[in-house]
Amino acid sequence: MAVPDAVDHLRRSAQGCLCCGARELRREAQIVSGFLAARAWGGPPQITELATCPACGFRFYERGLSEAETARYYRGYRDAEYVRSRWRWEPFYTQGQHQALLEWTHSPLRAEAVRAALTQSGAPAQYASALDHGGDQGQMLAAVEADRKAVYEPSACAAAQGIARYDDAARLPAGWNLILSCQVLEHVSSPSAYLRDIAALLADSGWLYIEVPNEQWRPAPGSEALRAAWLNHLLRWRPLLMAADLLCTACRIKLGRLPPFGFVAMREHMNYFTAASLRAILAGNGFTIESCGINGAGQLFAVARKFATVGAGSGGTVTTFT
Ligand SMILES: [Zn+2]
Repeated sequence: MAVPDAVDHLRRSAQGCLCCGARELRREAQIVSGFLAARAWGGPPQITELATCPACGFRFYERGLSEAETARYYRGYRDAEYVRSRWRWEPFYTQGQHQALLEWTHSPLRAEAVRAALTQSGAPAQYASALDHGGDQGQMLAAVEADRKAVYEPSACAAAQGIARYDDAARLPAGWNLILSCQVLEHVSSPSAYLRDIAALLADSGWLYIEVPNEQWRPAPGSEALRAAWLNHLLRWRPLLMAADLLCTACRIKLGRLPPFGFVAMREHMNYFTAASLRAILAGNGFTIESCGINGAGQLFAVARKFATVGAGSGGTVTTFT
C-alpha cells in the first residue's frame, strides 16, 4: 500500500491512512475547537471525523488546515493575544498552564532525551551541520555537537546564541547532516509532504531525529450514533460545550480514557502517532529507520536516515550506503 501523496485538507482520509495507506479506517465524530475554527478560518466550532487506522494505529482528523489557514493560525503563536483568545474558548488553558508548557518546551530534560536517543541509535557524536526544523529558539540543538547549527522557525522568535535562524522555507539551504524535528509532525495536515521536504533538506546519508507526543486513549463508551447526536447538540450551546470539553480533556489527560459520549476536540494536533505508524510513514517516504520508541522525556521518537537512491539503468533503483 502506498502512502498517499497529496492530501486534500478537507478530506484527509480520502486516499486511506496517511501513514500506511490502509483503506479501511474506523471513523467517529469529533468536534473542531471553537478557538481553532475562529483563528484559522473565522468559523464556529463544527463536527469533523477522527479516522483510526486498525493496521498501524494512526489517528487523524478528517479536517486539516490549508496553507493560508495554517499561516493564520500560527501567526503570533503562543503570544499574549493567542493566550487571551484561547482562554475565551478554553478557560482551562490558563496563564499558569501556558507558562508550564513553555518551561517544558525549554527544559534540559528534553534535550538530554534527544542526545540519549541519538547515541543509542548509533548516530555520530559530531556533525558538520545540524538544523532544528520548526524548533522555536533552537533549544534542542543543545543535544548535539555540530560545526554549524541553525533553526528554521517561521514564527517570530529569536534564536539561541550561536544558532543561525531561518524564517523563510524558500531560503533554507539543503545538505544538512542532521535534522531535528521535534513536536512538529503532529501539527501538519500533510505529514508525508512535510517528510519529503525534510528529505530534500538532508544530505545523502544524513540523519533525522523526529519526535511527536505519545498521545493514546481508549475510545469513549456508548453508541456512536448517540454520541454523534450529542456532539451536534453541544455545538448549539457554548457553555455546555466548554464544560464538556473541560471534562473530556481532564479525563483523557489524567485517566487515559474518555467519559461516556466523550470527545477529543481538534486543537493544534491533527495527528496522533503510534510507533508502528511513525515507522510506516518514514519508510513510505524513503527513510531507513535506525530506532523508534519512547525517549527519556516520555515522547515518541524515531531516528532515521536518508540514503541516496540512484537510478541503476536497466535494474531499476539501487540504494547506496556511504
Ligand atoms: Zn495506517
